[in-house]
Amino acid sequence: MEALATFQRELSSPKKIFITTHVKPDADALGSSLGLANYLLKKGHEVTVVTPSDYPSFLYWMQGNDWVLDFSKDGDKELATEKLNEADVIFCLDFSVLNRVNELGEMIRKSKAFIVNIDHHQDPEDFADFRFWSTKAAATCELVYELIVKLGDKNLIDAGIASCLYAGIMTDTGGFRHPNTTKNVHLVVAELIDLGADPSQISNLIYDSNSVNRLKFIGFAITRRLVVREDIHTAYFVISKKDLKKYQSQTGDTEGLVNYALSLDGIKLAALFSEREDGIKISFRSSPEVAVNKFAASYFEGGGHKNAAGGKSMLSLKETVEVFERLVEKCQEQLFQTEGISAE
Ligand code: 5GP
Ligand code: MN
Repeated sequence: MEALATFQRELSSPKKIFITTHVKPDADALGSSLGLANYLLKKGHEVTVVTPSDYPSFLYWMQGNDWVLDFSKDGDKELATEKLNEADVIFCLDFSVLNRVNELGEMIRKSKAFIVNIDHHQDPEDFADFRFWSTKAAATCELVYELIVKLGDKNLIDAGIASCLYAGIMTDTGGFRHPNTTKNVHLVVAELIDLGADPSQISNLIYDSNSVNRLKFIGFAITRRLVVREDIHTAYFVISKKDLKKYQSQTGDTEGLVNYALSLDGIKLAALFSEREDGIKISFRSSPEVAVNKFAASYFEGGGHKNAAGGKSMLSLKETVEVFERLVEKCQEQLFQTEGISAE
């Protein structure tokens, strides 16, 4: 309570506020950032939102999208640096370790500003002056909603803010299907609908905006790039740089692909390996009883949630996949023990 009071005091007069979120923001990252930004603007603060990289175009509809600065872009980077240097308060949303924001991480660590961390990932690093954090929350957007309510400002949540927050909760629960879909999630989204969020419109904006290339890419990936290892309850996609180029892949085009692997009957662990400019990016998904974040943290410099995590590898695509298969074979018991699945 003491910490909340300090935080409230910090925001009791107009401040220069800098909001950032993790690299390659998803709907929860951008929705929580813009939902909070729009609220803080209404409170009379000066607000800048900076993303460490670009993000998918199916998020461009969010209120405030036009004034987001992309730190990976010349011009934006200089302005964002200026804003960071003069900030009184820095909000770090939807991440808990500073290396998730690339170069910005060290700048935040050195900053003299009051630092706030709002997040729902495991194992947070201790870098914030005020942390509003819970792994029980399905999404950072759920926490932003709760924080605004706690501050007594529910009446300031308009349809634009409610829509940003709804979007993050919808996607981080996989459309209200993952095990993190709690009673509280439904209570919060019910309130957000009351405040103006339109579920069918938001779902349409996010899920039904495929390009023909993207749909063809998904078809190609499922038919040609999916490896199924039923013997170890595992299925994964291997996508090369060439594949991405052939289908003119845009940011966000591989999002959700890994779920097709997990949707297979009997599969408990799914992965997507995609070859990027800066190494191999890995997405992991698992059935409820398998803690894939621990696996990602132990072997692939990553982390995340119990059933949705990510990591990276600097080996070649082929070597990364070989290492992964060997590890899954070796870790069968730890990975699948809770349900009593034997290694076979
Ligand atoms: P995605 O597969 O959608 O990129 O990420 C799934 C989850 O894992 C997200 O919650 C994301 O924040 C987390 N995650 C993805 N990549 C990394 C990573 O390299 N490090 C950590 N710590 N978390 C990651
Ligand atoms: Mn999230």
